[in-house]
Amino acid sequence: MMIVGSTEQAEAALRAGEIACPDCSARLRPYGHARTRTVRGLGDGRLTARPRRARCQGCDRTHVLLPAALSARRADAVEVIGTALAAKAAGSGYRTIAARLGRPFSTVRRWLRRVPQPHARWLYEQGVQHAFRLDPDILARPKPWPSMLGWGLNLLAGAALAYQARLDSDLPPWTLIGLFTGGHLLSGPLRT
Ligand SMILES: [Zn+2]
Repeated sequence: MMIVGSTEQAEAALRAGEIACPDCSARLRPYGHARTRTVRGLGDGRLTARPRRARCQGCDRTHVLLPAALSARRADAVEVIGTALAAKAAGSGYRTIAARLGRPFSTVRRWLRRVPQPHARWLYEQGVQHAFRLDPDILARPKPWPSMLGWGLNLLAGAALAYQARLDSDLPPWTLIGLFTGGHLLSGPLRT
């Protein structure tokens, strides 16, 4: 499993031979499609994608190129999980967040537990790296957030806006944050 900005973006990059195998760095080539996935977005929204499958010309391994808006092995889109994490960073508890998002308490509690302090620090570090790469001025701004998670999401959001402006991209901020974190907004492995 590899995380890409969007199906269209991955398709173009794949055809141009611009995506390298994560295992051996050789070029990936188009190799059919993975099963269609549908996840729940914010409100009543649904996101559906049929991810590309690619095969490495070097080691023959195949990889699914998952659009960053979806989340691996979860029924909810990155924008939903991200909104829950941002609400937690702002001080809300899981019951309040679950009610606001229209999700079961247990689901939201499970997400929030997947961001222990070491993972919040990792998200923060990704935020620093991407902000530095895209617009270092973001790092000079005051940090109004009391928590590591809040700082991290704040930097990732700043980096996402800088990416949109610099690359004239219409990918939504949470999709870009999903891309910047390689699908690891929550801790845990991408592969089953
Ligand atoms: Zn390979």
